[in-house]
Amino acid sequence: MRELIIATKNVGKVKEFAEIFEPLGFKVKTLLDFPNAPEIEETGVTFEENALLKAKGIANLLHKMVLADDSGLVIDALDGRPGVYSARYAGVDKNDEANIKKVLDEMKGVPTEKRTAHFHCTLALVIPNKKSVIINGKCEGMILTEKRGDKGFGYDPIFYVPSLGKTMAEMTPEEKNQISHRGDAIRKLHKWIQENGN
Ligand code: IMP
Repeated sequence: MRELIIATKNVGKVKEFAEIFEPLGFKVKTLLDFPNAPEIEETGVTFEENALLKAKGIANLLHKMVLADDSGLVIDALDGRPGVYSARYAGVDKNDEANIKKVLDEMKGVPTEKRTAHFHCTLALVIPNKKSVIINGKCEGMILTEKRGDKGFGYDPIFYVPSLGKTMAEMTPEEKNQISHRGDAIRKLHKWIQENGN
């Protein structure tokens, strides 16, 4: 059976990827199966650079097919920030509350029509002795002036999606998957594999 390593320890992400790859005949493993694999630092300045850094770093070590992702929030009025720095925007890694506060402070006084933003997700698939595959996904929305909803993670409570009339933190996981940047990228990857799978 072909093996695919997902370069993450995040079980939520693993589940989303396993749902695509297992029906296609792949044995899906993650970094949880390789506890000695090093943490790859995200030193790139683009989502693509970071996703490739992670996928290539692990592929060079294990000599297997590896998929990695990198994602973040891109706000037009902030010239694209927090972007690749989304997880650590307020300085403390993965502090969602502090990150949201910093964004809302920086967006004070920005009128509704200028509060446009999108979530971005890049997937990098590295296959030994083949050209790497890069796939991008996107979800358009607006930044609210205060939080709404208690589901999800990260910037979900301030990211409003007009087509559903909800913030991402007010959506069920199924609703979010249908419109999210990661869902978009995963569906494109599924299509790519069906067309180029062998
Ligand atoms: P990573 O690609 O998993 O490292 O995500 C980087 C950061 O982007 C996360 O820590 C969140 O702050 C933000 N982010 C990425 N995807 C989402 C999402 O679906 N909802 C809210 N925040 C997200």
